Amino acid sequence: MNNRLVARAKAVVSVFDHGFLYGDGIYETMRVYKGVVFKIHEHMERLFQSASMIGLGIPKTPEGMKDAVYQTLEVNKCSEAVIRITISRGTGPLGLDPALCPEPTLVIMCGEFKPYPGRYHQKGIKIAVVRTRRNYHKALDPRIKSLNFLNNILAKREAKESGALEAIMLNYRGEITEGAVSNIFFVKDDILCTPSMGSGILGGITRSIVLDIAKEMNIHTKEGRFRPESIQTAGEVFISNTSMEVMPVSEVDAMRITKTPGKTTIALIRAYKKKVAEYIKREKG
Ligand code: PLP
Repeated sequence: MNNRLVARAKAVVSVFDHGFLYGDGIYETMRVYKGVVFKIHEHMERLFQSASMIGLGIPKTPEGMKDAVYQTLEVNKCSEAVIRITISRGTGPLGLDPALCPEPTLVIMCGEFKPYPGRYHQKGIKIAVVRTRRNYHKALDPRIKSLNFLNNILAKREAKESGALEAIMLNYRGEITEGAVSNIFFVKDDILCTPSMGSGILGGITRSIVLDIAKEMNIHTKEGRFRPESIQTAGEVFISNTSMEVMPVSEVDAMRITKTPGKTTIALIRAYKKKVAEYIKREKG
């Protein structure tokens, strides 16, 4: 925390922190496999991009941040873990002006990775298209991985009410965007489709990897603008994020997908795992 190793119980933030008061800040979540932080470079790039989009100076270089991440992993003896970096605007008097906060608050924390129940990946999960719309990109750009998470939390509440694990939000035009904590893909006529960045989404790192893998496997891909009907009638649907990797979907609202996971999803789950294994091997040298 702010360049010091602090015991969990003593890691506390001021009530005057603007992250707490206004959700003014950014974060990243990374997955650690065998002590190696997967795609740390890409996560650093996105962290610095989020920071620049809200005019927040990060008190370290990307290299310095990577060192701090590994130091946190080491003292916590984390090997299969999730690591989160949070940077808020910092402590200051009440008021919205970022200049009130002379120094950002930086927290890096890690915890053991808790695997999802096996049936999720074997049989698929239920998702729901919710009424809560994704933040309008000209109001709060979804490309910023911000601490201002109420949009996603309201969507998640709705999903939970309907017994779904993930909420799919539409944009102001009624096109699908993404989940509360994931990106979405579907297969239609043997084409792997996913909402484009222009639909108003976070550029998921897992999403990029999946698109790269699909291209390597000669699977046709399409990034575009899609109506909710496209996932309600697709042959295969899955969601992606750093912790879930590729997670098959068996039910969209009340519509069941007959065969989950489908062949493309299975191929991508395997190829993703292979990519992770290759990356770990390379990093371990
Ligand atoms: N979209 C949103 C809103 C998210 O919060 C996340 C991850 O937390 C994702 C997409 C997936 O991003 P990534 O694959 O980088 O984990």
